[in-house]
Amino acid sequence: MEDFKLIAIKCKSCDSGLTVEMNDTIVYCSSCGNGWEIINDELHPIEVGFAKPVLQGQGEIVYKGFWLVDSYVRINSRDSSGGWMSSFFGDGSKTEGNILFYVPAFWMTIDSVKNIGSQFTLRNPVPSPQKYSVKVTGFTFSKDDAKKIAEFIFLSAEAEKKDTVRNINYELTVNSYRVLGVPFYKQPNGKLRDAVLGIEVA
Ligand SMILES: [Zn+2]
Repeated sequence: MEDFKLIAIKCKSCDSGLTVEMNDTIVYCSSCGNGWEIINDELHPIEVGFAKPVLQGQGEIVYKGFWLVDSYVRINSRDSSGGWMSSFFGDGSKTEGNILFYVPAFWMTIDSVKNIGSQFTLRNPVPSPQKYSVKVTGFTFSKDDAKKIAEFIFLSAEAEKKDTVRNINYELTVNSYRVLGVPFYKQPNGKLRDAVLGIEVA
């Protein structure tokens, strides 16, 4: 099965050998700190940074990939039964602004995507990612997927307000994509819990 083949490639900056799983779309060189997006077997530079573990936890720490989707969102209209509020723009009366979406890049259930994605996005816990010499894995979702998932996180959070959204018309423009390695504890129960906000994913 070709799907699980490991590919050996060389870092375009420092020539170090890198190993990447066939399905992964991102590879990070822990020797020189450069990240690469693999498009049609070619390496294209992409910014990769890491979050520092801040919470204690049980088990080994592994770094998993998130897309940081720097977006501008404008809500043109929104029909609802109650008052209008958006928690994403800071001031609840605003209808547009920048949102930095934290989109998990590795496979998890849709409920976990919604939960960890919206909590990280609303709380922005990693304003200044750092460079580390660590391995980061788990890039099942591509850039294109990341935009769709960002929209899903936005819409599902809007839909969970106390009022009832009947209709929403909005535009989401992506300014840039970066990659963030988030530390997770591989817990004895087999589930991953992140070491930044302490959210368990399934
Ligand atoms: Zn390198």
